[in-house]
Amino acid sequence: MSDSKSQSTFINSYLRHTTIMAGNYQIIVTGAGAAGMMAAGRAAELGANVLLLEKMERPGKKILITGNGRCNLSNSRDMDSFITQFGANGRFLLNTFNRFFRDDLLALLRRYGIECKTEPDGKVYPTTDNAGDIVRAFERYMADGKVTVRFGVSVTGVLVENGRVSGVHTTAGNLPASAVIIAAGGSSHPQTGSTGDGFHIAAALGHTIVRLRPGLVSLVATDIEQAKQMQGASLRNVRITAFQCPAGKIDLSLVPEVDVGRGITGKRPKLPIIESRTGDAIITHFGLSGPIILEMSLAIVDALENGPVSVSIDLAPDRGNDMLRKELQQVFDKHSKRAYQNIVKDFLSQKLVEPFVGMTGVPPDKPGNQLKVKERESLLNLLKSLRFDIKGGYSMSTAMVTAGGISLKEINQYTMASQLVEGLYFCGEVMDLDAGTGGFNLQAAFSTGYVAGESAASFVLTKR
Ligand SMILES: Cc1cc2nc3c(=O)[nH]c(=O)nc-3n(C[C@H](O)[C@H](O)[C@H](O)COP(=O)(O)OP(=O)(O)OC[C@H]3O[C@@H](n4cnc5c(N)ncnc54)[C@H](O)[C@@H]3O)c2cc1C
Repeated sequence: MSDSKSQSTFINSYLRHTTIMAGNYQIIVTGAGAAGMMAAGRAAELGANVLLLEKMERPGKKILITGNGRCNLSNSRDMDSFITQFGANGRFLLNTFNRFFRDDLLALLRRYGIECKTEPDGKVYPTTDNAGDIVRAFERYMADGKVTVRFGVSVTGVLVENGRVSGVHTTAGNLPASAVIIAAGGSSHPQTGSTGDGFHIAAALGHTIVRLRPGLVSLVATDIEQAKQMQGASLRNVRITAFQCPAGKIDLSLVPEVDVGRGITGKRPKLPIIESRTGDAIITHFGLSGPIILEMSLAIVDALENGPVSVSIDLAPDRGNDMLRKELQQVFDKHSKRAYQNIVKDFLSQKLVEPFVGMTGVPPDKPGNQLKVKERESLLNLLKSLRFDIKGGYSMSTAMVTAGGISLKEINQYTMASQLVEGLYFCGEVMDLDAGTGGFNLQAAFSTGYVAGESAASFVLTKR
């Protein structure tokens, strides 16, 4: 978007200063996030008169922080693999994705001057690496359809007469409308405006809210002191396996041969294995974080409902015990005169040296050639299975996504319409849909937003 900034300033001021004209709107959309802006834009494009209400002072606050400000808006995976990322609820998205998927999103963005690129890991970003460009594109999409956008107004409820939507209750008073789209997002990162209002609004209308849990969240260790001692250790290419049992009862013979977990095709994990993944992680002052921990977190948070959970970290997953044993023997033989703690420095992350020396119980200054077999074995055991008991997810507010939400059983999978209230539609994270990292959540928000906007427009435009 070359001259987009000046254009968007104009649009923003046009949108901000437009006043609510009660009674003129056929559709009211709640929330100017990814799903709501898409829904409003699409409904308006089809000819509906649309009002978008956003409680914050600007649109797309969460979009701006996605992908570290670069906005990972989709993924190159094929549809089947995409759907698998959403776990058991993914099938719900099949019709939606058949209606509007990645290429449709990219084509829409291109209309507004945004080109996208696919990185080697399949993640799709705008070529400018600027999430603000995505928000501006949607502002222009909405402006083209003459959507009225009002900021600083919270929707507090939906007005229903005879089982049919008749408007919304807001902090600025009641507003009539024939259809309402709830796109209020989840409860994570509440500073972006996603404070869970959509769940309360839907529940007040009789909708079931599937238990809310933090998804894609760091994990808190039961023994925070152990984590603190290793704080800052960056674990590269490790294998982490989560077990449904205390750390002391982990049976390593059960570690599956290949990674298992949500979004990974192949065998499903069988208890006591919860998930097992290879990749990067980090030890923090409270526990564990990093890419694979985030991916595993929801399964672990859910498993904690059923009893203790622990993780075992294999720091050398590319080597079996025999090979590692040999390597250790060689290292200690080679550096026979060096102190134990100086030898382990060669192959351990600096932050792990002191704790590992302590945990193996070997005197730090013991020369390498004096180490007993038992002592070398205790180091090997730690390298193959550094264990943490897990207390829980860090917090909902720090999660990247809210798991749970409005039950999909009460939403029409072809239209996003409520099965309970006529004229009511849902889209985005407010529904019981969430996926791992990689651009899946935003694509789902855009796609369900598109379908909800189209369905609501069709409802109000064909209604007598
Ligand atoms: C740090 C972080 C990074 C992320 N990175 C990625 C990524 O790179 N790729 C990806 O696919 N996903 C990512 N996600 C997840 C993704 O951002 C969300 O799943 C997606 O934005 C959800 O879109 P939504 O429109 O449903 O909800 P939101 O984006 O949360 O939008 C909801 C909007 O509704 C407004 N609202 C709420 N209540 C009311 C009310 N009562 N009245 C009026 N307005 C209201 C809110 O202010 C907000 O603007 C990330 C999330 C976080 C927190």
